[in-house]
Amino acid sequence: MRYLDIPRYIKINEKDNVAIVVNDEGMKKGTILANMLELQDNVPFGHKFALKDLKKDDPVIRYGEIIGYVNQEVNKGQWIHEKMLYIKEPIKLSKEFGKSINFKESYRFKDHLPIKDRFFLGYRNKDGTVGTKNMLAIGMTVQCAEGVVNAAVEKIKKELLPKYQNVDDVVALNHLYGCGVAINAKNSEIPKRTIRNLMDNPNFGNERLIVSLGCEKFTPEDALDICNIHDKDNILVLQEYNGFSSMIAAICKKAEKILQKLNLRKREKCPVSELVVGLQCGGSDALSGVTANPAIGYAADLLVLSGAKVMFSEVTEVRDAAHLLLKRIKDLSVREKLIDELLWYDNYLDEGEVDRSANPSPGNKKGGLATIIEKALGSIAKSGTSEIVDVISPGEKIRKSGLTYAATPANDFVCGTQQLASGMTLEVFSTGRGTTYNLRQAPVIKVSTNNNLSNKWFDLIDVNAGTIASGEKTIKEVGEEIYELIIKVASGEVKTCADKYQLYNQLAVFNPAPIT
Ligand code: CA
Repeated sequence: MRYLDIPRYIKINEKDNVAIVVNDEGMKKGTILANMLELQDNVPFGHKFALKDLKKDDPVIRYGEIIGYVNQEVNKGQWIHEKMLYIKEPIKLSKEFGKSINFKESYRFKDHLPIKDRFFLGYRNKDGTVGTKNMLAIGMTVQCAEGVVNAAVEKIKKELLPKYQNVDDVVALNHLYGCGVAINAKNSEIPKRTIRNLMDNPNFGNERLIVSLGCEKFTPEDALDICNIHDKDNILVLQEYNGFSSMIAAICKKAEKILQKLNLRKREKCPVSELVVGLQCGGSDALSGVTANPAIGYAADLLVLSGAKVMFSEVTEVRDAAHLLLKRIKDLSVREKLIDELLWYDNYLDEGEVDRSANPSPGNKKGGLATIIEKALGSIAKSGTSEIVDVISPGEKIRKSGLTYAATPANDFVCGTQQLASGMTLEVFSTGRGTTYNLRQAPVIKVSTNNNLSNKWFDLIDVNAGTIASGEKTIKEVGEEIYELIIKVASGEVKTCADKYQLYNQLAVFNPAPIT
């Protein structure tokens, strides 16, 4: 059932003094709403209007939190767009602030027994991890090797892969690091750790093939030591070969050995607790925090109840909701770690002489997100309601079952790459404006925040959470739908839309250190 002709709007929290228009075509000036309020402007879909008269400098409240202040007088029923709002300094973070906050249990399943009877079909690895795909990955110590690796991957896919039916794909782990960089500079540990841990992603079956140039700063020995790769056999140094053909032949020969091993692997029944799921959003709109992210949050809570490892990220998009996240951390040292990561990012932005208002994007604003605070409050909805049990630095491996905050930039490609390095084997991604972002190394389930997008991009969206705004489904129903789809996609039973079309982005390793 659709209610397209009835004026529909959503007020999320009792305290809110604005509501969001959710009619597909927006609402016309003069529309009389159920509360007898008359709209003073045409209000586009996903945008806000005032539920009461506001004086200049009054706070605008959404999600029960202040998302900004009006820079002019606003009448009841008037459209409030981004040019009418300003924000103040973010919450001052410090150890003392972390200590001063009281842990608040808000987990919606706190009285439920753990889910132990749900399984997916995954690839079990020697190190105890489980993959959702069975892929040959070719890593590189330095970007100089990328051209040769790409050529080898093409040849392997064409000539070798068809012989090994149980292997899903061959992927190059590209990056722009390794040389022409100050290898021991401050923050260089981030790209180095990311590159090492990327090679250990559970979807690569604990097999490693690494191509080196031979004169780079990030030496194979460095990679070997830290990678725990004892089999030096799988490092190939291009400068030791006579000509291009011999390089390609050598890579293919080593690749075939690994393909033979990977091909012996079969999917087996594994508990959902073995999944490592990353959560992300991109191309957000004002409905992200009302439909898709709360539904993803519901699915995240179900995953946590199942004992899975779940991570959410995107520092600039959670920074203004730090006080809400800190309340969800029981362990004081984990709270301090979150504060450290957020402050590190504040400094990183400071050094570039920008601040968090560099986010939201023009598309976000057009979609109705007026300030970064509004975006953050909607963004953290996808983390669900469970306790945050751990915080990890960019590219560190995830350690604990339950919900982890993996500090990464919000940039879709960098965030996805960092989550892969942290061990993610499947990602759930919400979008309101629409993006064709996808990873080759792990499946990405796209969740649309609105019906318009899922109708327009019918063949690119996997789950439509817009049905929550149109009143057809509840957050719980869409959340359960996402949870079930995660299990099917992780088992290889369903392909994501973007995987069907093979839309793949390059990896983008986060490098905040200087290059030379
Ligand atoms: Ca993002």
